[in-house]
Amino acid sequence: MSDYQGLIRPEVAGLRPYSPGKPIEEVEREFGLKDIIKLASNENPLGPSPAALAAMQEAVTQTRLYPDNECYHLRRALARHLEMPEDTLIVGRGSDEVIHMLGLAFVRPGEEVMMCQPPFTLYEFTAQLMGAVQVRVPQRDFRHDLPAMIGRLSERTKLVFLSNPNNPTGAMITRAEVAAMLAALPPQAILVLDEAYYEYVDDPEFPTSLDYVREGKRVVVLRTFSKIYALAGLRIGYGIAPADMMRFLHQVREPFNVSSVAQAAAVASLGDPDQVVRSRELNRHGLRYLYREFERLGLPYVPSQANFVYVDTRVPCRPLFIELLKRGVIVRTGDIFGHPTHIRVTTGTGEENQRFITALEEALPIAAESA
Ligand code: PMP
Repeated sequence: MSDYQGLIRPEVAGLRPYSPGKPIEEVEREFGLKDIIKLASNENPLGPSPAALAAMQEAVTQTRLYPDNECYHLRRALARHLEMPEDTLIVGRGSDEVIHMLGLAFVRPGEEVMMCQPPFTLYEFTAQLMGAVQVRVPQRDFRHDLPAMIGRLSERTKLVFLSNPNNPTGAMITRAEVAAMLAALPPQAILVLDEAYYEYVDDPEFPTSLDYVREGKRVVVLRTFSKIYALAGLRIGYGIAPADMMRFLHQVREPFNVSSVAQAAAVASLGDPDQVVRSRELNRHGLRYLYREFERLGLPYVPSQANFVYVDTRVPCRPLFIELLKRGVIVRTGDIFGHPTHIRVTTGTGEENQRFITALEEALPIAAESA
């Protein structure tokens, strides 16, 4: 192994592999179980719009051909949907790819990339890959600490990532907080507002971030089809930025980066607002149910603006995770985010949420004993 050590870029040698939510099939194999529920990756239990499913079926007949490099139809549909000019838009293989493009286009070695601690993994990955200095600002009470972040801005800051709502806590950054960050942003820096869970938010204090783009501020907004549109398996998301800045992202974009099936599904999804309404409603019910049950069980949780809840189980999360797996429920452990008694649970269908709570009640005392 060490024979190859000298070949690798030091930035790459320092990368930590991504640790995804445990796949259903793996749990089936390991525990010999059927009927597993996965509440670990903030996926939408309702699934895609029927219109998107039909569009995908049609699109698979054309996979002999390369996809549309410009995502013409999707960018037109997004432009109408967002009321933004087409030249402010870019489509990626998930918003993950747009984060990667931000690094490629803008970050020089030694420049600073700011994020909260714990960060969403892709920010860390991109900063490390580009040889940037990561400026990690600890959260306070599971929220971004905006005054502390503003205090760490410098003449070397290049990207500032704000995940809003935040993953894994579900907490929101307010319009006033984003405005304060923008007012303090040094001239060479770009503010990235990562709004992967945007469609689930119902707090009126949420920033109207596209206005910043319309005003030509150095802001990039990220959204995705993975969450409420339930197309995570296709990998498709997008970014919105002032056209003058957006053209640099297009310069680093790989040709044909988004598959034709994904483009077709996304266009059809935008044409079915009912799927979004139903998903939002289901999530609202799910959150209310989980809050009620956590309160009954005496478990503190972070009120969420997304489709998941971060809850302090008061027992070590690893043995709890295993006990939940044995009962066919996959969640995410908080230890990877530095919180050894937390778990993050995605809202499922009503039935899935109940199964989770039943499993949790059984698993809590067992996990407590193994501590
Ligand atoms: N940002 C945040 C905060 C997320 O939680 C996720 C999904 N885990 C993403 C970006 C990436 O989403 P995707 O690449 O599927 O669009």
